[in-house]
Amino acid sequence: MTIIKGIGVSPGVAIAPAFVYIDDSGIIPQYHISAEDVQSEMARFHEASLLAKKEIEALRDRAKKEAGEEQAAIFDAHIMMLDDPVLLEQIELSLKEKQFNVEAAVLSFESEMVNKLSSSQDPLKQEKVSDIHDVVRRLLGHLLKKERISLSDIQTEIILIAKDLLPSEMVMMSRSMVRGIVTETGSRTSHAAILARAFEIPAVLGVGPGFVQQVKQGQAVYVDGDSGTVVIEPDDSIIRSEKAARAARLKQEKENKELRDIPAHTKDGTGIMLLANIGMPEEVTNAIEYGAEGIGLFRSEFFFLGGHIPGEEEQYNAYAQVARSMNGKPVTIRTLDIGGDKVLPELGVMGEKNPLLGWRAIRFCLEKTDLFITQLRAILRASDQGKVNIMFPMISTIDELIRAQALLDKAKEECISQGYKIDEDIETGIMIEVPSAAICSDVLSRSCDFFSIGTNDLSQYTLAVDRGNQKVAYLNNPFDIAVLRLISMTIKSSKKANIGVSLCGEMAADPASAVLLVGLGLRSLSMSASAIPAVKRALMSITMEEASSLAQQALSMNTASQVTALLNSRLNL
Ligand code: PEP
Ligand code: MG
Repeated sequence: MTIIKGIGVSPGVAIAPAFVYIDDSGIIPQYHISAEDVQSEMARFHEASLLAKKEIEALRDRAKKEAGEEQAAIFDAHIMMLDDPVLLEQIELSLKEKQFNVEAAVLSFESEMVNKLSSSQDPLKQEKVSDIHDVVRRLLGHLLKKERISLSDIQTEIILIAKDLLPSEMVMMSRSMVRGIVTETGSRTSHAAILARAFEIPAVLGVGPGFVQQVKQGQAVYVDGDSGTVVIEPDDSIIRSEKAARAARLKQEKENKELRDIPAHTKDGTGIMLLANIGMPEEVTNAIEYGAEGIGLFRSEFFFLGGHIPGEEEQYNAYAQVARSMNGKPVTIRTLDIGGDKVLPELGVMGEKNPLLGWRAIRFCLEKTDLFITQLRAILRASDQGKVNIMFPMISTIDELIRAQALLDKAKEECISQGYKIDEDIETGIMIEVPSAAICSDVLSRSCDFFSIGTNDLSQYTLAVDRGNQKVAYLNNPFDIAVLRLISMTIKSSKKANIGVSLCGEMAADPASAVLLVGLGLRSLSMSASAIPAVKRALMSITMEEASSLAQQALSMNTASQVTALLNSRLNL
């Protein structure tokens, strides 16, 4: 038995066999062949292509059953690619002319196609890039006789072990089979953590380098997402405690359901809106189950990371479904926040030296205006199906906000002239997640309808600390006095301008922080749906006066640890 400590980021416990995920598809041998070898290399290609086709057909059938025709069509397109005579011709030509092995020919075909498609302005063509990557990885897997590791193909219950997990990998993995997650890197506010909480999968991140080598494929692993403990080959006592913890959790879930229909309020009756953060449209069911009074943050980008770029109709259907499901309660859809760790190679968002300071979110959308207008149109059309708000991420300057609004006006005009019914006065807000936006929140407040404070990024940028890097996770604390001052400043600006203000960073999901935030003046908080009951209980245990006095004291502290000590001494949560 080996015990390892990391950062518990998603509560719950689980035991299952390890699935060690190492994506080593980058090492592809390339070597010269002679003219006589061309035939046999071509035969290898045919064999790999046949095997890949069989594999894709099986995936297509599964997708049809589990996800519907639309998802299955992706695999039909992959089969068509393999059947395309142009592919065969190109491979044969490349083998004959360049006299390199077939793996090299496949790679050169891939890079040619990707270059051609990525430079196109047509989003449909750009979408094809990820399909090409997928088909090529599959072909190479068979050529190299390697078992293709795909997180969407997992068919038995496992604990997923990886160095790191990209948001796209989290979105595509076979969620019902993943009982727990352990990664070497990451922290509480990294996107893998946010998604693990959304999917309610116990997770421990940041266990440090070397862990994937330490665990063998299939070895039993215990994950405790509350305490941040991971155990390889747990003994009987741990297996028993896992069973007890599961039973306690079921009891807690039952109690949470009883709280569902009581609107959140402080002990002395001040109402507080508790909203849910969602990443995928289907999470709306969970939001309703936990009693969310609306969707405070729909991270629309996760919907783009599922293997293809959704077009206007697909986006409209998703947004409209969420709006309808919430039945008139507010749904705030954040426009594409791609970049940083949310790479999207299909759209050229990757490979920057400093991705967190780079071409992200609104900066990307203001350049890719076709894609942005498509999304704005889809959101506007969905505004006819419920109470929908639009939110722009990562606004750093007023100019960006003005440019985004001009594009929104253009999208509105298009929709109206095409006869779509839309909410012409749709509320438009911005994320306050860059220090410049918080500092200039008085200026920004005059040009939008609401603010949503994103403390995950606000802490990251204020303290100059990569939110996904466990080595510096100790610094990334929203209780840091600089972050608290920016939060307070933003709330004051919004009150002065009489616009809405909410907070949707992970901080809102922590009961003690929620009390502090209400004390600072917030009356709306948005969080992972499963956090709502505990936050509600905390708010119901305190009066407004107590919360305000706590907040004033917190603002007069010097360090994050003093704020933590203050909350621990005054709150019994
Ligand atoms: C934030 O930065 O606090 C936020 C809510 O956005 P995301 O976590 O998606 O960056
Ligand atoms: Mg953010």
